[in-house]
Amino acid sequence: MDKLFLYNTLTRAKEEFKPIATSPQDLTSALSLRRRGSAVGLYTCGPTVYNYAHLGNLRSYIFEDVLKRVLLYNGYEVKHVMNITDVGHLTGDRDMGEDKLEKGARREGKSAWEIAEFYAKAFKKDLKLLNIIEPDIWCKATDHIQEQIDLIKKLEEKGYVYKTSDGVYYDTSKFKDYAKLSHLDLETLREGARVEINPEKKNSTDFALWKFTLKGAQRQMEWNSPWGVGFPGWHIECSAMSMKYLGEHFDIHCGGIDHINVHHTNEIAQTEAATGKRPWVNYWLHNAFLNIAGGKKMAKSDENFLTLENGLIKKGINPLVYRFAALQTHYRKPMEYSEEAMRNAAKGLEHLYNQTRELGIPPIRRAGRNYESGIINKEFKNKFLEAINDDLNMPQALAVAQELLKSDIPAKEKLATVFDFDKVLGLNIESAIKISALPNEIKQLAEAREKARKEKKWQEADKLRKEIESGGYAVEDTKDGMRVTKAK
Ligand code: AMP
Ligand code: ZN
Repeated sequence: MDKLFLYNTLTRAKEEFKPIATSPQDLTSALSLRRRGSAVGLYTCGPTVYNYAHLGNLRSYIFEDVLKRVLLYNGYEVKHVMNITDVGHLTGDRDMGEDKLEKGARREGKSAWEIAEFYAKAFKKDLKLLNIIEPDIWCKATDHIQEQIDLIKKLEEKGYVYKTSDGVYYDTSKFKDYAKLSHLDLETLREGARVEINPEKKNSTDFALWKFTLKGAQRQMEWNSPWGVGFPGWHIECSAMSMKYLGEHFDIHCGGIDHINVHHTNEIAQTEAATGKRPWVNYWLHNAFLNIAGGKKMAKSDENFLTLENGLIKKGINPLVYRFAALQTHYRKPMEYSEEAMRNAAKGLEHLYNQTRELGIPPIRRAGRNYESGIINKEFKNKFLEAINDDLNMPQALAVAQELLKSDIPAKEKLATVFDFDKVLGLNIESAIKISALPNEIKQLAEAREKARKEKKWQEADKLRKEIESGGYAVEDTKDGMRVTKAK
């Protein structure tokens, strides 16, 4: 088994990935994991569903999907949990401001529950369009209020909690390693937290575990708790739900780099304090931002953010082009969105599809059947593995795919190998190059021509060939049937 290296924010180093479920005696982890039915535990912080996910958010989920596919490609089983934040995330990340869900509800004249359902559904649709494998478990914060209350009670029993007029807070000065994920000194972290001043907090980094519905305020989402009616703070949901589904010690936790200093730092503080076990999570992985021109982070709070719909689909660009563009930049490097960059990525993806089509792709008569299977080329597979196992170096993995396609190994072998790579790339190469992926008009002409040929109506078949060609496609008659490809 090849070694997989991942960059761990906790240690600021590339480390060899060693799954928890593997005891030191079981060195061949993939097989032994399968046999024992355990899996790599992966928790990825999900969306706050008060608006559409923007392309920056989606960059996170593409990176996490690649990570998961790389684990699967290496033979691991993965248990993937993703939360949906449908309460408690305030407009200020430091417990001040309004609940984003309640704000979204006001904006759209709907209930907070309707808003959450609508945008969670839209989010899942985006994941599908990007060919992102669904998590094994989706969990919503509002479905796990009791688990969150129980966790806060535990923290209270251990003396980490104090009450103010607006909520129940975690005392960060009681947790020794509070700054360990951020690698900042405590003073800098505290300075960063001073942007939102709450005079009742003991330390500026302290954060809300539970917030009260204040007198006179009207909230749509609120629950009883031992401390008063209110709602959970933003961070507690991820601790409570990840432990419920993955246990008190699991392998990997991910999110964007903006989560390092606040959200994930607080998750660690409350979880490790509650369980008394360290570390809670072995590997913390974070993706860099998607920026808009000029290096500005794309953010939901800027109303002009771009979604998959208005950034790609409305412009006539296949959403998978965004996935391809994201693969072209290493996940720890900033990426920039521009329409031009998307158009270039569209050309790159079409080129990849065409290169693959030219290897002898599904003559029309055989559409729907399997290709004659070639053998996966070992040498290229190893190069590919080396790239993806080096902290998910996808730009290098794409370069290996190009090298493969331009090499002089037999076409069938290339085809089998590129389809194998696509288990990680997730570019849907196989279905994109099938006859069914042709534009409707061309597909109908091709099917009509195939029928004419079968009936030996040669003149008609010739006429149809010309029509296909004038639509920008080339026709080739092979012993297996007719093949239609985009003209060069
Ligand atoms: P949210 O829905 O705001 O909770 O964010 C969902 C995910 O998107 C989190 O993992 C964020 O860290 C990540 N994220 C937010 N903005 C960007 C951005 N511009 N580029 C990349 N990731 C982002
Ligand atoms: Zn989280």
